[in-house]
Amino acid sequence: MGKPTGFLEYQRLSEAYEPVAERLKKYKEFVLRLSDEQAAVQGARCMDCGIPFCNNGCPVNNIIPDWNDLVYRNQWKEAIEVLHSTNNFPEFTGRICPAPCEAACTLNINSDAVGIKSIEHAIIDKAWEEGWVQPRPAAAKTGKKVAVVGSGPAGLAAAQQLARVGHDVTVFEKNTRIGGLLRYGIPDFKMEKGLIDRRMAQMEAEGVRFRTGVIVGSDTAAPGIANDAKEFVSAEALQKEFDAVILAAGSEVPRDLPVPGRELGGVHFALEFLIPQNKAVAGDGPNPISAEGKHVVVIGGGDTGSDCVGTSNRHGAASVTQFELMPMPPEQENKALTWPYWPIKMRTSSSHEEGCERDFAVATKEFFGKDGKVTGLKAVRLEWKDGRMAEIAGSEFEVKADLVFFAMGFTNPLGKLLESFGVEKDARGNAKATTDGAGCYATSAPKVFAAGDVRRGQSLVVWAIREGRQCAREVDQFLMGETVLPR
Ligand SMILES: Cc1cc2nc3c(=O)[nH]c(=O)nc-3n(C[C@H](O)[C@H](O)[C@H](O)COP(=O)(O)OP(=O)(O)OC[C@H]3O[C@@H](n4cnc5c(N)ncnc54)[C@H](O)[C@@H]3O)c2cc1C
Ligand code: SF4
Repeated sequence: MGKPTGFLEYQRLSEAYEPVAERLKKYKEFVLRLSDEQAAVQGARCMDCGIPFCNNGCPVNNIIPDWNDLVYRNQWKEAIEVLHSTNNFPEFTGRICPAPCEAACTLNINSDAVGIKSIEHAIIDKAWEEGWVQPRPAAAKTGKKVAVVGSGPAGLAAAQQLARVGHDVTVFEKNTRIGGLLRYGIPDFKMEKGLIDRRMAQMEAEGVRFRTGVIVGSDTAAPGIANDAKEFVSAEALQKEFDAVILAAGSEVPRDLPVPGRELGGVHFALEFLIPQNKAVAGDGPNPISAEGKHVVVIGGGDTGSDCVGTSNRHGAASVTQFELMPMPPEQENKALTWPYWPIKMRTSSSHEEGCERDFAVATKEFFGKDGKVTGLKAVRLEWKDGRMAEIAGSEFEVKADLVFFAMGFTNPLGKLLESFGVEKDARGNAKATTDGAGCYATSAPKVFAAGDVRRGQSLVVWAIREGRQCAREVDQFLMGETVLPR
């Protein structure tokens, strides 16, 4: 695949970023896509390695060597066909996937991996520009009706697959706009929202109906969870009207930190900051939380924490500090031990590069403040002792903070939704359903299926797409007794 000697001749070329000073002035994307010529050279680095571990490392099993080869040979239209055969939304993953495929690339053993994600980005953006991405409505209708609850990547992928084989699909979304965390969690500077609107238009042309501002199962969400709903539909009504229901409602309950001072003003869950920011960028009203001139502390690493860092810097924060409970990981992984798996190593996001003090192995003990507002926090350093984390005596310290964001992950989906459908939960409170074998993705409730974060717990966009696609196949099989949809 690619050029047999390409990996010996060409170096990896990563996508360039606009300078920090420029990108901090706006909420727009700042990653500069490879030119066609650059992408072709990068595709040429894909060697004929025999067993493409990248294909297995990618959760949607993108057929990476084939499209690398096609890009190298300037056959872009064929490349997007191969890419779309496994991934409904490469414009999302080509921007925000952490690219486990690259960790699994054979070239990564003793050199730099093929820049798979940047080639994916180049293929799909060119395809849209050339007008090659068109609606693909079903040739015939089945007369079967499917409801999808939640419009994140899992719900969208399931809906698109099912509409394309002729089912009448309606997507219910409690918020004003579709996209789930793609729309309201992930900031525009990582992924602009016009990309979702464009796909939504394609899906509408394929027959998918979107009902936004409608909450299913329970007429209220829990405190701190985004809910713009003006309409409520009960689980019974949905089960009566539709032949199958897919729950793709995400995992929205955020992990809290119930230490003294938690109730102080200025201490927020990350999404209480990020959702209004995405709405503000879309022109849907101002963000009530401003980080301008403030000392911001983000508690928790990961994507959510990074997004709080990047957004705070764009607001003009006086300082941004990020605490991580775990110790600082090594700069470089030991590839002999980790390849082809996702290694634990120090990862510096583009938001970190824009300005952030990072502190590891730190636990927050208490928030303190004045007149009901947070002014700082007390923390302690941690060390691993006998396989357990322990506080280091005498290591307590204080940090100034006018704003604190909790980015410690999400514990489970909204219980009330699952309970309303009578769906059995797993030990973590997620919808219980398997992903392999007969009856996979089916929940304990009749004709109710589950896919994405609502089933697997908080995860990644690419995993949500995979589950949405695989779940659609199971639903089609359930409705028709046979299916042509891929797994
Ligand atoms: C801030 C942040 C940044 C992230 N960054 C990345 C990243 O860079 N890369 C990456 O791969 N992953 C990232 N993730 C994770 C990723 O966004 C999720 O794993 C993914 O969106 C899950 O998709 P989903 O379709 O299962 O659920 P979601 O995207 O959560 O969508 C679920 C939808 O269901 C709706 N819903 C819930 N209950 C109901 C109801 N009762 N009635 C109607 N609608 C309902 C919700 O409003 C929501 O729109 C990030 C997550 C966060 C929070
Ligand atoms: S979806 Fe993610 S893992 Fe798969 S090829 Fe694209 S960047 Fe790699």
